[in-house]
Amino acid sequence: MSTIKAYGAASATAPIVPMSIERRSLTPSDVKVEILFCGICHSDLHYARNEWADVMPTIYPCVPGHEIIGRVVEVGPAVSRFKVGQVVGVGCLVDSDRTCPNCREGLEQYCPNFTLTYGTPDNHGTAPGTFGGYSESIVVDEHFVLRIPANLDLAAAAPLLCAGITTYSPLKHWKAGPNKKVGIVGIGGLGHMGVKFSHALGAHTVVFTASPGKAADAVKLGADEVVVSTAADEMTKHAGSFDFILDCVSARHDINAYIALLKRDGNITMVGAPEKPLPVAVFGLLFGRRSLSGSAIGGIAETQEMLDFCGAHNIVADVEVVGVQQINDAYARMLKSDVKYRFTIDMKTLKG
Ligand SMILES: [Zn+2]
Ligand SMILES: [Zn+2]
Repeated sequence: MSTIKAYGAASATAPIVPMSIERRSLTPSDVKVEILFCGICHSDLHYARNEWADVMPTIYPCVPGHEIIGRVVEVGPAVSRFKVGQVVGVGCLVDSDRTCPNCREGLEQYCPNFTLTYGTPDNHGTAPGTFGGYSESIVVDEHFVLRIPANLDLAAAAPLLCAGITTYSPLKHWKAGPNKKVGIVGIGGLGHMGVKFSHALGAHTVVFTASPGKAADAVKLGADEVVVSTAADEMTKHAGSFDFILDCVSARHDINAYIALLKRDGNITMVGAPEKPLPVAVFGLLFGRRSLSGSAIGGIAETQEMLDFCGAHNIVADVEVVGVQQINDAYARMLKSDVKYRFTIDMKTLKG
């Protein structure tokens, strides 16, 4: 084992502060990655503050971070896909049982025995829970390590590992593409990636925002149309016209207003996670055989596909780079949506 520097929280009410953690020694199939950049995801804040106690109680001390870009510094003897010096990514998953039906289909994100990058019991016994990317380095089985296309800016590529795959996977699953009308609800960390992907996939992309002031930004991201969701007449104009809507809003909101905009057999997929249940008017689903779904991140193969797609289309997140010392400020600003559109931590500030 090795002791390394990290940033984490000691309790639900504690700020993110410097701490030391252990990383395991390499097994034959492990890759050790020196972390260069780590995106800040809204999940990091929920987890650090134990806000998902009902589904996933936080194991303290906790070190969040699952949008990791780094450089390989050591490989185990059985590692075949990665070399020392290579730039790689690690997302939300670091292990799974690899034998269940989901794993066999490359859908490790739905494995009942997955290991998340932070916050699940550490089956190597190095610590009670896994520690994430707000740290100097991470040791990961090569199956869960991703190649990063050489043309991408590394700080801006970090959020692809969570926000990127979270929006790419449902857009692909529901076949966003040419001759499809796709709606993206909300343009924050998730939504801004959804707009970029939907546009690059060739769909007619409509952005819904509650703030008219965000219209110009939405067009810059790739929107063909912008609808102000609080203007009832603007919403009505689009009734029954969407093939697919990706709902990226985590706050309480009226999803029935969006269900009404779907065509027959249209689907709305939620990727934001509102804390409280949302009321659904079932009649909206019955008329038109419409469906309401959820989606969580993506499997390893699809995450690689998404990264390669980003390389081919020059897609990265819009980021504001911060130092590790600013994580608590970044959390406060994230809660006010005061960032365009994602924070990324420059991890060399951890050495400082
Ligand atoms: Zn995330
Ligand atoms: Zn599995």
